[in-house]
Amino acid sequence: MILALARELPGLAPVERIRAIRAALAGEIVFTTSFGLEDQVLTHLVVESGAKIAFATLDTGRLFPETHALWAETEALYGIKVFAYTPRHEAVEDYIAESGINGFYASLEARKACCQIRKVEPLSRALKGAAGWITGLRADQSPARSDTPFAEESAQYGLVKLNPLLDFSREDALAFAKTHNVPINPLHASGFLSIGCAPCTRAIQPGEPERAGRWWWEDEAKKECGLHVGPDGKFVRPEPRKEAFA
Ligand code: SF4
Repeated sequence: MILALARELPGLAPVERIRAIRAALAGEIVFTTSFGLEDQVLTHLVVESGAKIAFATLDTGRLFPETHALWAETEALYGIKVFAYTPRHEAVEDYIAESGINGFYASLEARKACCQIRKVEPLSRALKGAAGWITGLRADQSPARSDTPFAEESAQYGLVKLNPLLDFSREDALAFAKTHNVPINPLHASGFLSIGCAPCTRAIQPGEPERAGRWWWEDEAKKECGLHVGPDGKFVRPEPRKEAFA
């Protein structure tokens, strides 16, 4: 089923991709939005599709005010509820006591520990019991994401991970948002192409890679927050399956 879906999705119109995903999976499907450009396009498509898909977000406690404003605007415009998963307060309190309020700048380990508490652990609760997980990943966002499939098994979360906008370019997403009056974060227009937590995101300069503004003080190859990486810290890529080409 997963391979068939991965083959089918690229040939469908975007809204039909959502319907095909819903038809292929029994059980709950969760779309995790961070209210970035692609996620806003996906929200529009999910609503347009009429498919029963749950909206969830990770409210890390360090998001931009603009992101919270867009969250409220999106719920009101589309008549949806986006369920917030927040970090465990004891873990945040311990982290701040030990590392400081901005302790994530000190080292890669300290940054990953913060992402673990504020993002990865809440994500595991958001996906608990779900059969499918829809994300707004695009293949051209970074080299690490370039060979991601449209649908893949996530052994880590025990579900099917789905990336229906994988073949969209940033320009495609912008054009879709403009044509369909999809609200987007005003920070995008100020050079914040990829928006995460406020202290870990900066605007990029013309010509810089799209995700250069995320954890800008770190080595480019290590820029993932843990949501799309395996236990070894590497971006999860499925093993090539010979039967896919049989
Ligand atoms: S992006 Fe920064 S503030 Fe947000 S969870 Fe990761 S380290 Fe913490």
